[in-house]
Amino acid sequence: MKYFFTDCEGPLTKNDNAYELTACFLPWGEKLFRQLSVYDDILAYLVKKPGYNAGGTLKLILPFFKAYDLNNQEIEKFSQKNFLFVPHIIETLNFLQKIMPCFIVSTSYRPYIHALCKTINFPEKNTYATEIDLDKLKIGVKEKIKLKNYAQEIINLPELELSAGVKKFSQLPDRVKKSVQRLNKIFWEEMNNLRSNKFFEIIRPVGGEEKAEAILSQLGGRKELLENVVYVGDSITDRQAFQVVRKNGGLTISFNGNRYAIESAEIAVISRSAYILGLLSALFVHFGKEKVLELSKKFALAQVVNQTNRKEIIQKSEIFRKRFRGERIGQLG
Ligand SMILES: [Mg+2]
Repeated sequence: MKYFFTDCEGPLTKNDNAYELTACFLPWGEKLFRQLSVYDDILAYLVKKPGYNAGGTLKLILPFFKAYDLNNQEIEKFSQKNFLFVPHIIETLNFLQKIMPCFIVSTSYRPYIHALCKTINFPEKNTYATEIDLDKLKIGVKEKIKLKNYAQEIINLPELELSAGVKKFSQLPDRVKKSVQRLNKIFWEEMNNLRSNKFFEIIRPVGGEEKAEAILSQLGGRKELLENVVYVGDSITDRQAFQVVRKNGGLTISFNGNRYAIESAEIAVISRSAYILGLLSALFVHFGKEKVLELSKKFALAQVVNQTNRKEIIQKSEIFRKRFRGERIGQLG
């Protein structure tokens, strides 16, 4: 038996749900989200803060959701109304579910994935998402004011940026270093006394490692079954899943991916339509991985990534991705 695993935001939808929620419900939310998203990248890749995984923006933003009285139901309602589906994905998923078990492994919040399952009639038990419960934690008025002040301060800090060439914290411009230091103080010292700090302890975003773990646990921990898996992803949190599936003989497909995806996947699809995912996966089911690679080349279905063409594919895919998903979302994570 073969198995289909896919990320959600990117291959299935064009949303960045956490970003959209922040932009919609919080004043200057776009700016706040951008600052936290870059801060998250800096902690994960430059500082390598122990125990800190990429995907942390989803955690860092939660106290501010609380400060502005966002609740579970509102997230679900908002998500339901704002789905941006990749063209033809619903019929493709319906088809794929007929030929093999299908799973969604997503970093997105549970209420978004819950709304998605309802909308496209996908079994929720076959999904992984970042579990959050905004209603369970109660915070007082004083804490809300404090959090709103922090949000304002973060928005007003010099803009955070992480250019592609920067490999060490010391290479960051001084103003960015200062902003990071202030954020460290806010999040890891001053907020320690707040009730909403609980979010940082209990929420475990489904990041890179968790996605790889999810696949393996779905297979009952049997690594030898990974050769039957096709995994579709598009960005940094798919990297580990790509690596583990590929190393063990499964098929890995980047769908309009960024450089992190194309550096780890064997096949790169750049497309406006999800049909190609159905086609490649069906070939995988019927003929196996080698045939998929062979026919991809022969009929120019998709690009098989190698040392020589990788750079060019990354460039094309990243340009297309920005246009396809919208400039701002395409740049994030
Ligand atoms: Mg994605």
